[in-house]
Amino acid sequence: MDRLPGARRFVRRFVAGTALEDALAVAARLNAEGVDAAITHLGENVATSEDASRAADEYLEVLDEIARRRLRAVPSLKLTHLGLDLGEAVCRTHLERVAANGLAGRTLVWVDMESSAYTDRTLDLYYRLHGTYSNLACVVQAYLRHTAADIERLVEIGATVRLCKGAYREPPEIAFPDKREVDASYTRGIDRLLAPDAMVRGVYPAFATHDERLLDQARETARARGVTADRFELQMLYGIRHDLHGPLRAAGLRLRVLVPYGEDWYGYFMRRLAERPANLAFLFRQLLRG
Ligand SMILES: Cc1cc2nc3c(=O)[nH]c(=O)nc-3n(C[C@H](O)[C@H](O)[C@H](O)COP(=O)(O)OP(=O)(O)OC[C@H]3O[C@@H](n4cnc5c(N)ncnc54)[C@H](O)[C@@H]3O)c2cc1C
Repeated sequence: MDRLPGARRFVRRFVAGTALEDALAVAARLNAEGVDAAITHLGENVATSEDASRAADEYLEVLDEIARRRLRAVPSLKLTHLGLDLGEAVCRTHLERVAANGLAGRTLVWVDMESSAYTDRTLDLYYRLHGTYSNLACVVQAYLRHTAADIERLVEIGATVRLCKGAYREPPEIAFPDKREVDASYTRGIDRLLAPDAMVRGVYPAFATHDERLLDQARETARARGVTADRFELQMLYGIRHDLHGPLRAAGLRLRVLVPYGEDWYGYFMRRLAERPANLAFLFRQLLRG
């Protein structure tokens, strides 16, 4: 796919490019439009500790460049990129390197959520490190049945937490198979994360979705509860619903766009294709034209 011109063009719709410089250029452009960025170096499930170490080094460079260029941006990383498959100790060492660097520069470090095989290990590591690295932020997925319970625990510790729908194929025993149920779970998440006691505990929620109904619900719930615009943010992915950026910013809302870059784009790109069948049709048309 990498060699087909039509496909490459389409990949570039969702991925800033292969080099860090590409992501930094997009982040600067977003900042100029009043939008914050989260930068992801694409990669997951590394097989050696050298690869894990290289991934952490790359994130240290991301942090350095963010600081050097004074960008309003943060890194957003995956624990399997930092070696979670090789054991918690390997992953923790690398995560702490990145988190400590972020903490020194007062920059959040977002820990993405991967498939359910990693949910508990990811949250456990987050709970263990949260006291030391207050700049760590985590993610919960509305499609998981257990997420309501996870949110309760995150509210208790006053976490910085992204709520997304969830992007992996999961069995119905652990995830809601029906989109309406996922949306209802998301709505409950909005309600809980913006509850007065969550705000008092210092919870900072990020509502990551392109679903206009849910974006409206987050805004409306915050407004009705008197939660000011600096106490939560909305998040979107690079290349999706760019048309919403202007109106959300004009309404005075904080918006962050996740900007991925790197050679290892296949898994990320496939998830973007899978969540929207129309993308697949578009890709085939591009391939035929290419
Ligand atoms: C900032 C951010 C961080 C994320 N981090 C994680 C994470 O850590 N773990 C995880 O599992 N998932 C993550 N996701 C992905 C998320 O779980 C969903 O898979 C993804 O956001 C699509 O769901 P949606 O909420 O936009 O709702 P949907 O109901 O899927 O989509 C709503 C509308 O958004 C548009 N849209 C959505 N997806 C696409 C697409 N691929 N191409 C074109 N248009 C689209 C369409 O207009 C669609 O009608 C993240 C998403 C965002 C925005």
